[in-house]
Amino acid sequence: MARPGILIVLSGPSGTGKGTICKALLQNCPNINYSVSATTRTPREGEVNGVNYWFVKKEEFQTMAKNNELLEWAEVYGNYYGTPRKHVEQLLNSGKDVVLEIDTQGAMQIKAKFPQGVFVYIVPPSIDELAFRINKRGSESQESIEKRLGSVQYEISSAYDYNYVVVNDQVEAATAKIEAIISAEKSRVERNTDRIEAISNRCSVS
Ligand code: ADP
Ligand code: 5GP
Repeated sequence: MARPGILIVLSGPSGTGKGTICKALLQNCPNINYSVSATTRTPREGEVNGVNYWFVKKEEFQTMAKNNELLEWAEVYGNYYGTPRKHVEQLLNSGKDVVLEIDTQGAMQIKAKFPQGVFVYIVPPSIDELAFRINKRGSESQESIEKRLGSVQYEISSAYDYNYVVVNDQVEAATAKIEAIISAEKSRVERNTDRIEAISNRCSVS
């Protein structure tokens, strides 16, 4: 059986650069797969169903949640978001790494189910820079921007529940840090007990 893949969970305030970092991570690391979430929110310009999100109606989402088809789900800024279970489990079981870009409520549900996951909280260099980035993205109404910025201070305190904090100052540097974290995690003793046993049994290891 393949060694299970690593589940990487990225969270952070809206506009901090999670999506941007995720994209860079996927480009740099072919073994990492992105889990496309389901959401009831309206697509933004340029967003594609099945690529950015699975855009579903509220009733459909509720049915998925009721049928245990979601690994986690949460209401964020007035919309529902959730991680489809089957795809993630299949990937992990076949040895592929999976990245989830989800909010802190969802991340804590995942932590309870996958304590061996790697939980990374991404912070902006400052609140002013965060406000600048959300405005620059131009995807949100003024009301939505205020809602997102208003909850930042409270949200950031949840970083204490994660394993790592990465400041997204420069995209390349932040992505490189996450790659280094994943690489170190792969060398953890508890993920390599089979290798230790194989060597002690005089077998060669990969
Ligand atoms: P999130 O997914 O966390 O909501 P995005 O990835 O959509 O955030 O990024 C929000 C905006 O900030 C985008 O316009 C993106 O291009 C920009 N951005 C992301 N990372 C950086 C960075 N390190 N420096 C400057 N701008 C950034
Ligand atoms: P956005 O609407 O800006 O794409 O995302 C809003 C928030 O929802 C972000 O914090 C994002 O991480 C979170 N989110 C996206 N997908 C999921 C998911 O599947 N589950 C949970 N719990 N949160 C999600």
